[in-house]
Amino acid sequence: MLDADFFRRWMTAAAASVDREAERLTALDSPIGDADHGSNLQRGFRAVTATLEKEAPDTPGAILQLAGRQLISTVGGASGPLYGTLLRRTGKALGDATEVTEQQLTDAVREGVDAVMALGGAAPGDKTMIDALVPAVDALATSFRAAAAAAEEGAVATIPLQARKGRASYLGERSIGHQDPGATSSALLIAALVEASG
Ligand code: ADP
Ligand code: MG
Ligand code: MG
Repeated sequence: MLDADFFRRWMTAAAASVDREAERLTALDSPIGDADHGSNLQRGFRAVTATLEKEAPDTPGAILQLAGRQLISTVGGASGPLYGTLLRRTGKALGDATEVTEQQLTDAVREGVDAVMALGGAAPGDKTMIDALVPAVDALATSFRAAAAAAEEGAVATIPLQARKGRASYLGERSIGHQDPGATSSALLIAALVEASG
């Protein structure tokens, strides 16, 4: 069973990973964006960990919903509302249980990813975070480790794609040949599940 402490560790591990990789995320956002993805998420996840310490919500659902609200209010740019929606909707789907199963988490993340697709209008293959998140959800039923590998593979697979959503889509064919920053950060978020469980 996954309790509130697991979800706190997940968010803390994600924040630490975003801190470590912020420069790389911003560098990826340079050729096909506006070079702010790393700093956007760093600001957001620092706010998440600070708020979780202060408010100490005690259920998995409340932790993810609070984290999502923080991302929406602190991350400028497209990724804030999208990641915020992912965490808020996942948290909402977990309800007010004090512990959840891995299957419940998988189902909840699937709802979260569906909400991101509804909000942003991106489908798999559009060269966005969705290209990491959809394969991750499909592999979550197997294990966190499998989901992390699938997300990483999905992020790398965005390189040959032409962007059809977000800022990178303005470049048309010139977006080809670059890894999507949002898919890369999504892979970090999923990999943080492995750290939280270890
Ligand atoms: P901005 O583009 O506003 O500067 P960020 O740089 O923080 O925002 O985030 C860019 C990332 O957001 C992209 O790499 C992509 O993965 C993701 N993204 C942008 N638009 C969409 C969308 N409509 N649906 C899903 N993801 C999107
Ligand atoms: Mg950007
Ligand atoms: Mg921006």
